[in-house]
Amino acid sequence: MSPTAVVRFAPSPTGALHLGNGYAALYSFQTAQRLGGRFLLRVEDIDQTRCRPEYEAAMLEDLAWLGLVWEQPVRRQSEHMADYAAALETLTVAGLTYPCFCTRKQIAREIAAAPSAPHGPDGALYPGTCRGLSADERQDRIAGGAAYAIRLDSHLAAARVGPGLLWHDRQQGAQALQAGLHGDVVLARKDTPTSYHLAVTVDDALQGITLVTRGADLFAASHVHRLLQALLNLPTPEYDHHPLLRDAAGVRLAKRDGAISLAQWRREGHDLAQLREAIGLAR
Ligand code: GLU
Repeated sequence: MSPTAVVRFAPSPTGALHLGNGYAALYSFQTAQRLGGRFLLRVEDIDQTRCRPEYEAAMLEDLAWLGLVWEQPVRRQSEHMADYAAALETLTVAGLTYPCFCTRKQIAREIAAAPSAPHGPDGALYPGTCRGLSADERQDRIAGGAAYAIRLDSHLAAARVGPGLLWHDRQQGAQALQAGLHGDVVLARKDTPTSYHLAVTVDDALQGITLVTRGADLFAASHVHRLLQALLNLPTPEYDHHPLLRDAAGVRLAKRDGAISLAQWRREGHDLAQLREAIGLAR
């Protein structure tokens, strides 16, 4: 007998869920059902400036309206900072991290001054300004009260894991790890002692996720997650990056562009069957 699939949906409560989020939620839930697996919900609320309890409450209501049923308790990332701190400590003890004192402005200035700087899927990579600081310099700045993020040294990390690592996407097949694709990613932000990449990797492992279903916009991020799994000695789930829902003009639905929310959809008198039809997930 093959082991039970464990699938999750992991939204961030930063605003009203729109039809694209509805699609992603139903896609994950239906995948779990089709596989006869378990379905978990995870609230990704590490960004305390953007996440709000009222968004979370509305989100849970929307997901219940969609017919999703998830196991209790829901994992809320803001309640598990100690888990992320432990993983960060492991990477730091292994000599794979460094403090970064740069501001966004400084980074932008450096990149503008060096147009040949390496680029990743989301644009220019962090140019590595703080990677070469001496231990004394780091200590002085920290002692002086300078704010800092913690970054992964992607060169050292790539050397540590060596060649030959793979991960598998159900839509695009086997992927050879590109350890440096996103450069020296942030593992802990100046304002939050973790980051999206670190928290998601730790949680997927701690929750025993076997299949990560999420939008194709996060496809490249899976290279970072696979790298962190190898460094932290965590299991690697399988991935299924689904296409993103687009409007009639082919533009990706997004909260900031005022994509129609699920709540508005309901207020307009549409039912779930109509929604499934509209997003192409009618059964
Ligand atoms: N929290 C992320 C988002 O809302 C998704 C994370 C993931 O599925 O890995 O975009």
